[in-house]
Amino acid sequence: MTPDTETDEGDVRFVRQLIGLDYAVRTNPVARAFGEALAEGRITGHRCPSCGLVYVPPKGFCPICTVPTGSEHEVAIADRGIVTSWTVLTPIQYAGQEEREDYALASLLLEGADGTVGQQRLVEVALDEIRMGLRVEAVWAPEGEREPDDRGYGLGTAITGWRPTGEPDAPADAYREHVL
Ligand SMILES: [Zn+2]
Repeated sequence: MTPDTETDEGDVRFVRQLIGLDYAVRTNPVARAFGEALAEGRITGHRCPSCGLVYVPPKGFCPICTVPTGSEHEVAIADRGIVTSWTVLTPIQYAGQEEREDYALASLLLEGADGTVGQQRLVEVALDEIRMGLRVEAVWAPEGEREPDDRGYGLGTAITGWRPTGEPDAPADAYREHVL
């Protein structure tokens, strides 16, 4: 701690400096099992034993019924689904930014799940052709390059993106309850 930060007196000083931060996130058994399945090319969810809703990624509990869920409640989720909403991002070119072109992140309702998975990259589709109801399938990273998201929020790097299947769009009834 410098003298300037030990007192309320004196001018505030700012320092412009690029730094790198490495984070270590403690995982939990539910997130770990989910990540291990992803590494094997499987998406899993938990079905609440009380209300029957399926959560992906599994949380280890149903937030509606407040009952715990575990491996005995695991169900398989398809690696395909429909776009319920999306955002096109224009990356600001700050130092360290690796994105150069506009790209789209979407919320997806996967087959077998009752809630959407957010922040999923859409690939192999023109940005102006993205729409609600668009059917997509996962593009899996090669085995050995599938790093799970141990926080339990997303799909990590196991799936590099989602591309259109080319099938007819899902009807609005299929996603109207999931549009943010
Ligand atoms: Zn429930």
